[in-house]
Amino acid sequence: MQHATGMTRIANGKLIDGTGASSVSDAVVLIENGRISYAGPAKGAPPADPAAEQIDALGGTILPGLVEAHYHPTYFNVAALEDLDIKYPVEYVSLLAAANARLALECGYTAARSGGCLFNIDVWLKKAIEEDVAPGPRLATSGREICGVGGLMDWNPDYRKIGMEGLVLLINGPDEGRAAVRTLVKDGVEWVKTYPTGDAAAPDTNDHHTLCMTQEEMNAVVVTAHNHKMKVTGHCRATEGIKNALRAGYDTLEHGTFMDDEALEMLLARDTPVIPALQFEHASVTKGPEIGMPQAVIDGHQETLEGGVESALKILKAGGRLGMGGDYGFAWNPHGTYAKELSFFVEHVGFSVVDTIKCATKTGAEIMGRAEEFGTLEAGKLADVLVVDADLEENITALEDAENFIAVVQGGFVKSGRLAQHQSAIRGVVQ
Ligand SMILES: [Zn+2]
Repeated sequence: MQHATGMTRIANGKLIDGTGASSVSDAVVLIENGRISYAGPAKGAPPADPAAEQIDALGGTILPGLVEAHYHPTYFNVAALEDLDIKYPVEYVSLLAAANARLALECGYTAARSGGCLFNIDVWLKKAIEEDVAPGPRLATSGREICGVGGLMDWNPDYRKIGMEGLVLLINGPDEGRAAVRTLVKDGVEWVKTYPTGDAAAPDTNDHHTLCMTQEEMNAVVVTAHNHKMKVTGHCRATEGIKNALRAGYDTLEHGTFMDDEALEMLLARDTPVIPALQFEHASVTKGPEIGMPQAVIDGHQETLEGGVESALKILKAGGRLGMGGDYGFAWNPHGTYAKELSFFVEHVGFSVVDTIKCATKTGAEIMGRAEEFGTLEAGKLADVLVVDADLEENITALEDAENFIAVVQGGFVKSGRLAQHQSAIRGVVQ
């Protein structure tokens, strides 16, 4: 990805730098050659080059570009499980994924970690973004997801005789777990997404207290993945599944829903980040009835939501790490509404705005293994910056509307927001 040259000065805004530090009310951020050279109080800021590009934050907020930590660029308007795998061919899903990536950037997300994808689209989408062919967040890729035979993702009945090739590698036993990971090594993915547990979506055979992989299968996946320098994450709702994942050495936990004291202790000892994705549950409960979701599924989502809120609070209080990401791409939780995750944590879980933004920036970058490069506004970091025409400490929901964005800056280039028409690094899209 190309970075800007020259200097940009962002001023007249409140700084929330992503480290968890208190906001700074009258701040300046200086960008030189695509990197932050200063972020702090206006008083004490080094002088800017008179030729520097000026961005007026209009008394709003200056924060790091957001990181979507559980992003599915290849999921699109999923209303039923069939929509995940067999609705469209790979050619069309690739185009949809590129459109979703552009939307995420326009929504202020300058980086994202995939939570699983169809076919091997993430890897090629990342290449297009990195080569400035398509706009989008800096991406950490996943590939086809791994689940035990008969588990949550093995929903396609045998009489259809069509398998689950596009979305899932189904395994029976540790040998098949190893084989599945080796397939993903060849695909070039960074993250192996697995299904240790079921979900409220499948109340009959794979509900949120059901295990979908054995400890031996999970151990084999992790050892093989780590050997090839890949990371492992998993859909973990049931308490025993959470513990199995932690014992196996998972690098992150998706959801981490039903966490008892022992699970929390294990989590903290390993400092494993959790991505709760709670707005998905909230949306399932509130919009479920109007889209005809069965009551048993809605009830399961309600229980999941309550368990997830409780666990997220425990993790935050105990000093654990939480990423903000949300399984967007479902019909009731569409792409483009990513920032609802942050609003939910502030309004319904009781997190402070500063803590929530830290989870959505610094911790997101840590999950991606790129915290040295971005995720906070500190000298030396890449200039991935969001400038919002609103005081986010007063109103976090301002992040939900891209109309409020003065600038979405990635590598020093203003790529979206009101000022974006003046410059762009995207070849073939704007120029
Ligand atoms: Zn997901």
